[in-house]
Amino acid sequence: ANTPRTAGRHFLQIPGPTPVPDRILRAMDMPVLDHRGPEFQRLGKRVLENIKGVFKTKNHVFIYPASGTGAWEAALTNVLSPGDKVLMFETGHFATLWKNMALKLGIEPVFISSDWRTGADPEALEQKLREDKNHEIKAVCVVHNETSTGCVSPIGKIRKAIDAAGHPALYLVDTISSLASIDYRHDEWGVDVTVSGSQKGLMLPPGLSFNAVSEKALKASKTSKLPKLFWSWEEMIPHNKNGFFPYTPGTNLLYGLDAAIDMLNEEGLENVFARHDRHAEATRRAVRAWGLEILCRVPEHYSSSLTAVLVPDGHNADDFRGRVLDAFDMSLGTGLTKLQGKVFRIGHLGDTNDLTILGALCGVEMGLALAGIPHKEGGVQAAMQYFAAQAGKPRSIA
Ligand code: PLP
Repeated sequence: ANTPRTAGRHFLQIPGPTPVPDRILRAMDMPVLDHRGPEFQRLGKRVLENIKGVFKTKNHVFIYPASGTGAWEAALTNVLSPGDKVLMFETGHFATLWKNMALKLGIEPVFISSDWRTGADPEALEQKLREDKNHEIKAVCVVHNETSTGCVSPIGKIRKAIDAAGHPALYLVDTISSLASIDYRHDEWGVDVTVSGSQKGLMLPPGLSFNAVSEKALKASKTSKLPKLFWSWEEMIPHNKNGFFPYTPGTNLLYGLDAAIDMLNEEGLENVFARHDRHAEATRRAVRAWGLEILCRVPEHYSSSLTAVLVPDGHNADDFRGRVLDAFDMSLGTGLTKLQGKVFRIGHLGDTNDLTILGALCGVEMGLALAGIPHKEGGVQAAMQYFAAQAGKPRSIA
């Protein structure tokens, strides 16, 4: 049977992929071009140079035609050797997947467990590094924004903890759901490999992912023994120097990336971060007014990309999400693995504005009533009051 047409825009309020702006769709709507020709070369050179500013790095950024998982694998295989130990922190589902990948690749993760309600703890990491007197740990891997929980890890503080322990480990950070949404500084925070993806803060469809690297990481890649070819930085470097790639790049996605970088720079990265902070704060005010609990229990670790909300015992978050989808054509994020049915996630990252967020919160508030989840009214009202009070405050000029 045909599905009836739904009018208007679908509300894609999951924490990525995020809605793609019309300007980016138009930028990608181009004839496919010769990826060895001069027109591509100009595009390749431009995006390889301009993407650096988004990571706040002066060093090289590798771009893969792959989802974020590929860039995780690239980060590990380029700098590590079989049997190397890596220190990882269990912030949630994605940190666990990265740990499982390390195991499959023949790396030995030292996994600091946690309750999935906080970001990574610099002190716990420092302690483990101090205990590692022989420097067997070769890398510290942290997820900046844990998309399954809505908790952010303090990346700058963790850098300081690694330094305080006097440990030479490389520092690998996953920014798949934080880049271009939450302040991030690859060079200043001394990160060796930053992993990211296209489908969240960069407002692109899925299909591109990134490794921003440091000189120290490039040096480590010269002696790393894990097998790699598709992911190999060494294979990429000579081609990238001329704006090319060793294999067929995601040509049309790169047109989109070019436009996305322009849009971020036109708004100003600091304004982009402030907008995400504002949308997150409005969402949390709504959640509190409903009398529901935010999963993240450490306010300094609240995510500006998404908010995970616990549903009261005896209620199923996925039933609620289904009601919202059927009634209001809005997708909310599901609870992943051990959070299945216990939380729903409101994505507030990417190309969103105050009214989009209010529309999303309306859908949640009406959905709570439809699904019979005990709550108080007034969440949307609280968010409106907050937005109204924020409106008219000066913004920095890009
Ligand atoms: N890491 C984080 C923090 C993510 O949010 C995701 C996906 O949502 C991934 C890794 C995996 O990326 P992908 O699904 O693009 O392979």
